[in-house]
Amino acid sequence: MSNNTNDVDVVIVGAGFAGMYELYRMRQAGFSTVVLETADDVGGTWYWNRYPGARCDILSVDYSYSWDPELQKEWTWSERYAAQPEILRYADFVADKHDLRRDIRFDTRVVSAEWDDGTKRWTIHTDTGDDVTCRFYIMATGCLSMPKVPDIEGTDLFTGEVYFTSTWPHDGVDFTGKRVAVIGTGSSAVQSIPLIAAEAEQLTVFQRTPNFSIPARNGPISDERMAAFRSDPEAYREAARHSGAGVPRELAQEGALMVSEKERLARYEAMWEAGELLGISGVFNDTLTNAESNETLRQFFHDKIRSIVNDPAVAEALCPTNHYVGTKRACLDTNYYETYNLPHVQLVDLRQDPITTITETGIDTAGEPFEFDAIVFATGFDAMTGAIVGVDITGRDGVTLEDKWAAGPVTYLGLMASGFPNLFMITGPGSPSVLSNMMVSIEQHVDWIADALEHLRTHDLETIEPTELAETEWVAHGNEFASLTLMPTANSWYMGANVPGKPQVFLPYPGGVDRYRAACDEVVDRGYLGFALDGPSGRVVNDGIIRPLAADVQVMLDVMAEMGVPPIESLSVEDARMFMTMSAAVRPPGPDVGEIVDGTLPGADGSDLEYRLYRPATPGPHPIVAYFHGGGWVLGRHDADDPLCRDLCAQSGAIIVSVDYRHAPEARFPAAADDGLAAAQWIAEHAEDLGGVPGQLAVAGWSAGANIAAVTAQQAKLVGTPAIVGQVLLNPVTDCDFTRPSYVDNADGYILTLALMTWFWDHYCDPADRTDPKASPLRADDLSGLPPAMIVTCEFDPLRDEGDAYAAALEAAGVPVHHLQCKGQTHTSLGAVDALVTGAYARTEMAEAIQGFFGASVTSGV
Ligand code: FAD
Ligand code: NAP
Repeated sequence: MSNNTNDVDVVIVGAGFAGMYELYRMRQAGFSTVVLETADDVGGTWYWNRYPGARCDILSVDYSYSWDPELQKEWTWSERYAAQPEILRYADFVADKHDLRRDIRFDTRVVSAEWDDGTKRWTIHTDTGDDVTCRFYIMATGCLSMPKVPDIEGTDLFTGEVYFTSTWPHDGVDFTGKRVAVIGTGSSAVQSIPLIAAEAEQLTVFQRTPNFSIPARNGPISDERMAAFRSDPEAYREAARHSGAGVPRELAQEGALMVSEKERLARYEAMWEAGELLGISGVFNDTLTNAESNETLRQFFHDKIRSIVNDPAVAEALCPTNHYVGTKRACLDTNYYETYNLPHVQLVDLRQDPITTITETGIDTAGEPFEFDAIVFATGFDAMTGAIVGVDITGRDGVTLEDKWAAGPVTYLGLMASGFPNLFMITGPGSPSVLSNMMVSIEQHVDWIADALEHLRTHDLETIEPTELAETEWVAHGNEFASLTLMPTANSWYMGANVPGKPQVFLPYPGGVDRYRAACDEVVDRGYLGFALDGPSGRVVNDGIIRPLAADVQVMLDVMAEMGVPPIESLSVEDARMFMTMSAAVRPPGPDVGEIVDGTLPGADGSDLEYRLYRPATPGPHPIVAYFHGGGWVLGRHDADDPLCRDLCAQSGAIIVSVDYRHAPEARFPAAADDGLAAAQWIAEHAEDLGGVPGQLAVAGWSAGANIAAVTAQQAKLVGTPAIVGQVLLNPVTDCDFTRPSYVDNADGYILTLALMTWFWDHYCDPADRTDPKASPLRADDLSGLPPAMIVTCEFDPLRDEGDAYAAALEAAGVPVHHLQCKGQTHTSLGAVDALVTGAYARTEMAEAIQGFFGASVTSGV
């Protein structure tokens, strides 16, 4: 292993914290490795960004390596937020301690790289003319390392001093007696402005978008925090690894609107006092998902800014109004807002007075020419992708990464891209990276990559590369997660919006460090799912999707798993019913409807069945849908599916009458089925009294209720009454066969399990009766002449295949069928109105189907 060899196992580009640790791991594993670095020393971000005030915005105790237990004892940070020189000293200390520099070639910029499919090696070209070949090529080039090219007219004209915060002179700059301009008000500007103001004779800040910033309250690290760390460093680090953002934190359990205004303000005040970046969007659990909640925080910031800044006009200009808190990276500051109270500091609001050009002597805005001795560009970075596509990387078949990413980066796990074998990215786009404490995310990637390389070597494999399916679905998963938040609404660098012409997609993975780590680990545990591994003994393609569930459905299942919700089949019937009632009490209620009326109607045996009628707000009379709730014939009541019934009523414009039926085990088969028919007949007979349109009756139901709806439609056909114009069957039980693939694939893990379905059937129906079409409507001899149907099935539902089979059988019998198969959804997810949003389209289609059954006689209430 030598720095002078030009043919190695591994080339790492970049000697920041990522490249340094990756080098260490590669050495430990015995791979010959060379690191190539543009700078003349280690440190990356902390080598380049030497502007006044530069310091970390994650507490230093957290923003430090965890992989060297000795280092944790040897190094003590002097402050809560260490300044750039101290962080650079830390990088230097690590490099010395592990003798890293001997494998790092400094002053060497990688300009291009190409894959040779014949030799299965990469050739890396550098600006020194020295090429290096390697089997594995690791880009540790940083997320915030490619400064944004100035995009202001006349930038080259200025003859005074020009500085970029991202490449600050090593000897520092003395602004004493100078007229200085700072362009930008992101984190770099917010940190540097107070210090530049302290030196300069005159400071003018050019602000395009104001930012949210809280006081860092820098100083000694609190005893409490240090004690938490020192008492058990490994447990502390482990908690960070399994946290949402890479810092151990208690998660908020409440939304901002769930507490009183007084309580809300008190919690915001505590956050302001605490001075921790991650605390800003962590005060409540819906800050990044609920605009109304976020607005309360935005107002809190505005009030703070107004209370600090003396000039009301300047204060207003500093109040961010065009983006939600946390949707652009918020800042930590020391005396930032106070600086605007100094007489020699001026703020130019570019939204009111845009820059027209930079001139030889200063900056012209539409309203005023300014003269300066120095201009500081704090204008940011071509984040996340800039440094990667800054190298001209050509993969298999001559495809370049830049071309592949023309519409936005496409990666699997933010680690690799298909068509580019053995090319790894540390904290690449599609990984949590910049949304987290980067140290934690860097270490996780380095470890994952090192483990993968060791795996390949152990199994005599030469290449690893993601499949297109795995990659496409990972990108879709990340985008779906982002769409559930407010994040894509801002013109942020997270979205690529700061660089003219850059495709606007959400770049990091927003699902959290913990959830992301679990996905990466699961990929490995499942034999590198989503990867093709190739070697002398052949190619193994383990194609698949690591996170196929809709993002919100996945979160809900994760939360339930954490809560340790007991399997329903483990409870007594009484306890299960109580549990269902308690769960129903805490769900969102669903939309308003015109009127809700409770009543009773006679069941098949003459006993009273309760019903709840949901009437649209539109003028009546309305057609009627007789709705049967889910609950496996055992659980539930007439109001059990309240949010869904409200939603169907409001969206379809039809009356929904949710009817209860006798439940098992007290009343076994065919009681529920018979009650379904009796209820439908009674509703048809009393349509006018109920405010309905006589002759305009459809049936609908969910799960076992959809079974009753389907059976009711069949029985009505057989007995000739009532006339039913349509049926909406959501995740219907149509058959008693447990051997279909959906039962096998989804036997466990998605709330409705094989065990629970078995429990339901056992309570409801003797095995000998189960093939009766009144229990298994799929088994009816003749399905022709049944009313048109809308059948909705979900990918992760044991009942999926029997629902699909019923749709196919009805269609084969000449019944018009609208069959909707919902990707990524489960048996229970579509009914979770206002709680899960990715299934909302299915409810809309169900409502449209109802409208279709009734023709012109309904109009939507929404
Ligand atoms: P970098 O530190 O960016 O290192 C990448 C290296 O690759 C650089 O040295 C660069 O010269 C080299 N390189 C790039 N392209 C090439 C090439 N073609 N050829 C050769 N060499 C190349 N994150 C946090 O979590 N907490 C913070 O408090 C925090 N503060 C920050 C403050 C600033 C001012 C900035 C800009 C970023 C901050 N970050 C912070 C993000 C920070 O970038 C990461 O925390 C971390 O330092 C990144 O380490 P890295 O090794 O991945 O990348
Ligand atoms: P940034 O957040 O992207 O801020 C750049 C600023 O320049 C923005 O205010 C931007 O305005 C402005 N700007 C860009 N182009 C402009 C133009 N043509 N005309 C006028 N204004 C223009 O960049 P940054 O401050 O360097 O920070 C980048 C990231 O690095 C941070 O978000 C953070 O993750 C990290 N960082 C952390 C710290 C820390 O505290 N530890 C410090 C610095 C950086 P718009 O918003 O309108 O685009």
